[in-house]
Amino acid sequence: MSRAGKGAAVDFTESDEHRAIRDAVREIGAKYGHAYFTRCTTEGRFTDELWADIFAAGFGGVNLPERYGGGGGGLIEMAIVIEELAAQGCPLLFLIVGGMCGPIIGDFGTDAQRQEWLPGIAGGHTKMAFAITEADAGSNAAAITTTAVRDGDQWVINGAKQFITGMDVADAVLVVTRTGTDAEGRGKLSLFIVDTAAAGLEFRPIPMEIKAPDRQFSVFFDNVTVPASRLIGGAPDQGMTQVFSGLNPERVNVAAQATGLGRYFLDKAVAYARQREVWTVPIGAHQGVSHPLAEVKVQLDLARLMGSKAAWLFDRRADGVGEAASVAKLAAADAALFALDQCVQVHGGNAFASEYGIGDLWGLTRLMRSAPVSREMVLNYVAQHSLGLPRSY
Ligand SMILES: Cc1cc2nc3c(=O)[nH]c(=O)nc-3n(C[C@H](O)[C@H](O)[C@H](O)COP(=O)(O)OP(=O)(O)OC[C@H]3O[C@@H](n4cnc5c(N)ncnc54)[C@H](O)[C@@H]3O)c2cc1C
Repeated sequence: MSRAGKGAAVDFTESDEHRAIRDAVREIGAKYGHAYFTRCTTEGRFTDELWADIFAAGFGGVNLPERYGGGGGGLIEMAIVIEELAAQGCPLLFLIVGGMCGPIIGDFGTDAQRQEWLPGIAGGHTKMAFAITEADAGSNAAAITTTAVRDGDQWVINGAKQFITGMDVADAVLVVTRTGTDAEGRGKLSLFIVDTAAAGLEFRPIPMEIKAPDRQFSVFFDNVTVPASRLIGGAPDQGMTQVFSGLNPERVNVAAQATGLGRYFLDKAVAYARQREVWTVPIGAHQGVSHPLAEVKVQLDLARLMGSKAAWLFDRRADGVGEAASVAKLAAADAALFALDQCVQVHGGNAFASEYGIGDLWGLTRLMRSAPVSREMVLNYVAQHSLGLPRSY
């Protein structure tokens, strides 16, 4: 898989390679469909079969280097995979988490860490959760209080995290800890890879209003000891850069998932509007029905364009990726919610019947306005960094 260098001309036509990925992933997603996703949710189990198929075909690790068993692509390719699965009604949250941990280890890990962890992540055999959120810190990562303290050639971790996705299926978790405090009182951060089975680590499921096979957990660290070899990059206090570098692909992948979900709702709405007749013509002939759907298409196309730009910038490690990724996430989350609402409206009462596979996706779709970064925090970023306005907090 080739990636043009920095400054390469932008081409808005989709390459044959990208189209082939899109088609192949769509085919795998369609084989399972939303009914499978719902069944896994109801049975309280992970999407093992779909996960295995996606990785066996080489798409789960498409963004990781070939020398570690990945596809040699980048965020653009990963976003295509995530979007197409969501468009088939299979929005896999945990694929986003994995799509974030791998690049952090790839970019900032030591050689030994890359060799130990990337082949498993690229092959789908090793699952890694990501833990930054804490009850009292919230959106302010610099205020986290989970600490890692050096003890000889080991580190001892204490604290708690919340809303951590997929702890029940993960082999390890990439944990953001505080290893110091700077002159302004902000945490100096360090990232550690911790086995989910480590002594002193416990996790409990949080009952959620999101219907998805991926579950969220409270995680507790009580004197969890890890060897120094588990500190990402080998040196402490480097975590802020590592975290922010990892959050950009996460935002792009969430944008891709939201765009895919938006397409899922739009496809359903259009199909229904074409065939449903209550007077003498299909309801899609009424402009009160067709215009909102056309507007959904416009919003999704715009969001997708911004997501592609953000992925393109990230793959070149170019400036401006932070803002582009955040804006793409905001735009895609808004577009997906708008798509869901119009899909509900077009379906009349049927939207609320379980068999139509619409209402159950509200929680997951709405989530994308609040996480992994909220709408307000994106607007704060744009107001301060792009517009030069003062900060209120
Ligand atoms: C389903 C799900 C899965 C998740 N998975 C993970 C995971 O795998 N790993 C992980 O680490 N975390 C995960 N999270 C956590 C998620 O990233 C956070 O919930 C999110 O970052 C928001 O943080 P918070 O909930 O603490 O909200 P808060 O920070 O408490 O914010 C609450 C509200 O206040 C607003 N607000 C706060 N500060 C400001 C300000 N300065 N200006 C304007 N408005 C402000 C916010 O925009 C928001 O609307 C998950 C959450 C959910 C619900």
